[in-house]
Amino acid sequence: MDFTIPENTRRMTRVIRDFMQNEVYPLEREFLNASFRDMLPVLEQKRRNAKAMGLWAPHIPEEYGGQGLGLLEFAHVSEELGRSPIGHYLCNCQAPDVGNMEILMKYGTDEQKGSYLLPLIQGEIRSCFAMTEPGYPGSNPTWMGATAVKDGDDYVINGQKWFITGADGAAFAIVLATTNPEAESRYLRASMIIVPTDTAGFRRVRNTSVMGEVGSDYASHAEILFDDCRVPQSNRLGPEGAGFVIAQERLGPGRIHHCMRWIGICERAFDLMCEWAATRHTAPDRTLGSRQIAQVWIAESRAEIDAARLMVLQTAWKIDREGASAARDEISLIKFYVAGVLQRVLDRAIQAHGGMGMTDDLPLAYWYRFERAARIYDGPDEVHKLVVARRILRRYGG
Ligand SMILES: Cc1cc2nc3c(=O)[nH]c(=O)nc-3n(C[C@H](O)[C@H](O)[C@H](O)COP(=O)(O)OP(=O)(O)OC[C@H]3O[C@@H](n4cnc5c(N)ncnc54)[C@H](O)[C@@H]3O)c2cc1C
Repeated sequence: MDFTIPENTRRMTRVIRDFMQNEVYPLEREFLNASFRDMLPVLEQKRRNAKAMGLWAPHIPEEYGGQGLGLLEFAHVSEELGRSPIGHYLCNCQAPDVGNMEILMKYGTDEQKGSYLLPLIQGEIRSCFAMTEPGYPGSNPTWMGATAVKDGDDYVINGQKWFITGADGAAFAIVLATTNPEAESRYLRASMIIVPTDTAGFRRVRNTSVMGEVGSDYASHAEILFDDCRVPQSNRLGPEGAGFVIAQERLGPGRIHHCMRWIGICERAFDLMCEWAATRHTAPDRTLGSRQIAQVWIAESRAEIDAARLMVLQTAWKIDREGASAARDEISLIKFYVAGVLQRVLDRAIQAHGGMGMTDDLPLAYWYRFERAARIYDGPDEVHKLVVARRILRRYGG
């Protein structure tokens, strides 16, 4: 394995560090204490700056207007951007748009690319990805209630989705719905369909409150109702019945993006914890850092973050060389392991800060609220653990 960081990625991470230091961190306290929608004008200005600095859409090939980074290179960039809650958004590589761009690039027709992909890459519009449903287990997306039935040249979609990140203000949703209920394989029954959010029959019911916050715009998780929502069949993304397969493909690199963003969060939390421990006095002659308990928090966090990064880089390296299906074990392992490291490091950093750690003067409490979901979305811990364990046991004849 060769994890040498290419020179262009090094250059970009240096520029990102300056951008974060000079333009992003100074904005954080205001961001943490305002609604996302209220912050949009200032965020838009920062996005223009990121574009001018050559940081825009780093994961997208240059011919589409991005910076052309491969998965392993983007992993390093994603870590740098993850050090602030707004880093990815400012460079237009935030979930769920990042995954939607990837599948539109791979499966979109020329017309779909012109109408949806290019404006998405330019940051003129946002999108959302609608798979999870209230009445069915999101952990098993081969079983769902939403249907898309052919009628003339159209699909008529009915069903309910929830936790749809960024649906508030999105221009379109990529929706997973059953189109082929008769298919023998449960993996071949659903299709992905692009639904503009102004289509009749598409209704955003509410932004669901998550960890005490209803959220707005990109920072929303919405419930959506499809009531005889009619779109042309030409809005289907990829082959009929391939929705689940495409969703899995989307989630492979998506988990690398998430994990490296989480490692960026860990590094920032680690810096904050160490700076605080080194300077905060617990007695006139003693700093917090002089207490063994704080030293244990620091040593354990350092070891866990370093281990997590190596696991993720190895997975990205394997996906780049052999494709996501060859790295299924690694993808499951990093998904639950790094999500766990994230929770533990954030918890220690908050504990070290005492009352200060609970405030929104620092990003720790924000991350503690919003990144609890890391152990649930894109497959809960339990599902990844049992999937990987089953595959391992098969090798032992189990
Ligand atoms: C903040 C946030 C953002 C999200 N964004 C999106 C989005 O943009 N688009 C979207 O479509 N969805 C989104 N989701 C939904 C997310 O993907 C689902 O919540 C997740 O897949 C789990 O599905 P579920 O909530 O239906 O839980 P369930 O599937 O009902 O599972 C509940 C719990 O049961 C356990 N469990 C489930 N299956 C098994 C099993 N086989 N063995 C052992 N234990 C099991 C797990 O502990 C799991 O946490 C988001 C969720 C959150 C919290």
